[in-house]
Amino acid sequence: MTLAGAGRRLPPPTTMFARAAGLRCPRCGAPSVLRTWLKLRDRCPTCGLALERGEQSDYWLGAYAINLVVAEGFSGVVALLSLWVFWPKTAVPIIVGAVLALTMPIVFFPFSRTLWLAWDLSFRPTEAGDDGSANSTR
Ligand SMILES: [Zn+2]
Repeated sequence: MTLAGAGRRLPPPTTMFARAAGLRCPRCGAPSVLRTWLKLRDRCPTCGLALERGEQSDYWLGAYAINLVVAEGFSGVVALLSLWVFWPKTAVPIIVGAVLALTMPIVFFPFSRTLWLAWDLSFRPTEAGDDGSANSTR
């Protein structure tokens, strides 16, 4: 496996994705990487991994893409299933689809970010500047 920044060894990608799916740090598994539901800390409070990995403006485009595909895909599938169940009445499927389409991107937002971070770490292991003080969580 790949050696990371300060001599840290990254876990296998399956472990990193499992940790990310539980809203934990993909590298060390620490549970408190969220500052708020919509905001990650700057660094992992346990291992110091930079959760913003250098690219300030476009780093999270992958997370947005994951969020869009998963949240809206889920909403569409549930809306189609409810349309199939309630056919020919369409009011319930329309309401279900609209509510899910509006709420799922917010519900899934932090998961998309941690999953994107795990994906990025799988292909681009920690680099200089990714490690820092474990106490600098701002
Ligand atoms: Zn960590």
